[in-house]
Amino acid sequence: MCGIVGIYGNPEAATLAYLGLYAQQHRGQEGAGIVTVDQGAIHRHMGEGLVSEVFHNPDLLDSLPGASAIGHTRYSTTGGIGSKNVGPLMFNVRDRAVSIAHNGNLINLSTIRHDLQEQGALFQTATDTELLIHLLAKSRHERLVDQLHEALLQVEGAYSLMILSEEGLIAARDPQGWRPFVIGKLDDTWVLASETCALDLIGAQELREVQPGEILLISESGLESVHQIPAVQPAHCIFEYIYFSRPDSRIFGANVDKMRRRLGRELAREAPAPTADIVISVPDSSNTAAIGYAQESGIRHEIGLIRNHYVGRSFIRPRQKLRDLTVKLKFNPVRGVLEDREIVLVDDSIVRGTTMKTLVKLIRDAGAKKVHVRISSPPIRNSCYFGLDFPTQSELIATQQTVEEVARFLGADSLAYLSLQGTLDAMDHDSDHFCTACFSGRYPLEVKEIPSKDMFELPLESVPVVVTAT
Ligand code: SF4
Repeated sequence: MCGIVGIYGNPEAATLAYLGLYAQQHRGQEGAGIVTVDQGAIHRHMGEGLVSEVFHNPDLLDSLPGASAIGHTRYSTTGGIGSKNVGPLMFNVRDRAVSIAHNGNLINLSTIRHDLQEQGALFQTATDTELLIHLLAKSRHERLVDQLHEALLQVEGAYSLMILSEEGLIAARDPQGWRPFVIGKLDDTWVLASETCALDLIGAQELREVQPGEILLISESGLESVHQIPAVQPAHCIFEYIYFSRPDSRIFGANVDKMRRRLGRELAREAPAPTADIVISVPDSSNTAAIGYAQESGIRHEIGLIRNHYVGRSFIRPRQKLRDLTVKLKFNPVRGVLEDREIVLVDDSIVRGTTMKTLVKLIRDAGAKKVHVRISSPPIRNSCYFGLDFPTQSELIATQQTVEEVARFLGADSLAYLSLQGTLDAMDHDSDHFCTACFSGRYPLEVKEIPSKDMFELPLESVPVVVTAT
């Protein structure tokens, strides 16, 4: 998962892109970058870390001239940590400078990458994004937007992407519409972003979504919808509503806040805890679901955990070592709220269970009499191949243990998950509009090659070592 933003037609393009990335920091915290185009020349600044770390000096934005820009916050799903994989990526395609920012994950990579390498392609990164550039570079079409169309017809999976060149700003979304992608306008400036919270910060009005399968070009002539990859059954990622998107965003045509409240309400109906004194959330992603639970159950909502906002979201961190550290740094219980009370602790999901186990212990140590854990989504039992970096099935606690066993592992007095039907009932769209594969095991696309995150990283021992004689 990543956050992307595109700006076209504003002399402050880099600054607006920076704001758009800032609003979407939650979508990727491993790296950030902005590329601008100015009179045919491409300028880039990128690096590992948060947006505020990468752009630590405001003067850096002045080094990115031009009236169009694309930006990217990285969350790795293909290709590991490392600055070479941070977007937007830049290439020369037939002597034209081209830059690309991609949110999603392609699934039929190995065969295509192998074929390209057999034909002499040299890959600079371990990302699926670079593969797209190789495919479009092979196209005989003249225009980049047509080259991209030809390339996209060869790939499968989730993508919301932008390509910036002197031709203009191209945007494309996969035919299933896996990831959100919106178009807005700020006076004469076009703004594209993963989530509407980026438009809000920039002050742009939302116009519409980039339609599933649509490839559009924004140029001096305005916005032109150039190609439409044939429509298929939508497969919006339901986890965007449950956890990933910001509650103040509007995605897939509905407010995230509204969906999350409904998930909380459904959860209260399905899994009541009638003897509990208060409902608390695991901040921030579960706040809204906890409010929904409290409203439906009539149990008072309290703030029982304080989150340190200067530490990244633990789930999004790519390495277990870092994850353990961030949990300890991140939450502090409010003893005055929790002491001698029976607690309903609402969270959006459980992946490995280690974070929740630590939280239950923190809450007990703060004097809570009982802790009832309520999860506003079903158990995660399957890997995601479409943009979320869940661990392998063997690391997902719900594949290894029953609900009762998980409750014991967590040290909770009771544990209940929202059912899949309850999750779908909370949504505005029909149930067949969503991907629910991590819960249900029903993948909307057949996954013929099981991708892994580091599949294209060179093993260290195979990296050529150059020894310079002194
Ligand atoms: Fe979203 Fe789960 Fe489907 Fe992945 S498998 S796209 S996280 S619903």
